[in-house]
Amino acid sequence: MSNKKIVMIKKPADFPGESNFKLIEEDQIKLKEKEVRIQTLWLSLDPYMRGSMNRIEEGDIMVGELIGKVVESKSEIIPSGAIVLSKAGWQTCPVVNEKNIKIVDSRIDPLSLALGAIGMPGLTAYFGLTKIGKPKPGETVVVSAGSGAVGSVVGQISKKLGCKVVGIAGSDEKVEYMTSELGFDHGINYKKSDWTESLNNSTTSGVDIYFDNVGGIISDEIIDRINEKARVLICGQISQYNNSEVELGPRNLRQFLFKRAKLEGFMVYGYEDQYQEGLDFLVNMMNEGELKFKETIVEGIENAPYAFSKLFSGENFGKLLLKIT
Ligand code: NAP
Repeated sequence: MSNKKIVMIKKPADFPGESNFKLIEEDQIKLKEKEVRIQTLWLSLDPYMRGSMNRIEEGDIMVGELIGKVVESKSEIIPSGAIVLSKAGWQTCPVVNEKNIKIVDSRIDPLSLALGAIGMPGLTAYFGLTKIGKPKPGETVVVSAGSGAVGSVVGQISKKLGCKVVGIAGSDEKVEYMTSELGFDHGINYKKSDWTESLNNSTTSGVDIYFDNVGGIISDEIIDRINEKARVLICGQISQYNNSEVELGPRNLRQFLFKRAKLEGFMVYGYEDQYQEGLDFLVNMMNEGELKFKETIVEGIENAPYAFSKLFSGENFGKLLLKIT
């Protein structure tokens, strides 16, 4: 079994595309002590990887998390046959040291959820919302990219905790999904010319928590509607990731002054020592039938660059995954 891997050959100036990547096939290497060989089953494609492309060197393997099956092991703690998570990047058959591997929680079914609603994106939703947002029943939560991997879980946890939820997304189909399937109170398509009117109508009591996944003018509009003591969490700024220059816009930071509100950025890995708490919460939601999810699946490692670009055009619907066949 050879290993196929995708390296970044050119840093993107703006939107990433196929010309930024190259597929390389290499022969198997021999395992050293404490190493395992993994056959990749699922590769996660996430917006943060765009930022990683600015930081890695040309010729480096693209970063990313995968789920795979251990097919050969020289580890005493990770046996052959184990289903594991690893940040080995865009590879089909990587060799990884045991210290860089986690065994997938056996309660997670289907397995792909360990990269989505019960994986890093779900944990992002859980920790951001509960530890920074600290929602109280009856409060209004607005979440941008509300139908996506993180946003869909933010909205569902908020509903479970008794909040009113308004989801923002880029198509009528996504709006329908948020309201009909995920149970959000309102969904708004920000691509419609009258979307700020819809925002007014759905936030008549103002906004107590804004879970920001996108930044830019969408966030400016929502911040204009925050209540006293509101909490604004900066989870992501996807509308800005492909800009070569900082985008200027309305400067409504005075809202935080007059409303005595809080603005806080966070990174999910800051909560790594508490992941078990988040996993238990999300597994419980899954078992109770309270955690709905959607996945966009593209097959074949050679299609990873094409699939990745979907995140920035909104063509993904829910968690974007690559299935390795
Ligand atoms: P996702 O929502 O599943 O997919 C990305 C979505 O962003 C697209 O489907 C698109 O949806 C929307 N989008 C793309 N370009 C946009 C633009 N210019 N303006 C407005 N919306 C745009 O992705 P995800 O994995 O859940 O991540 C969501 C955000 O959370 C990202 O910003 C990511 O970087 C961030 N994140 C942060 C952490 C952390 O630790 N802080 C962890 C995970 C993720 P529409 O069709 O609705 O436009």
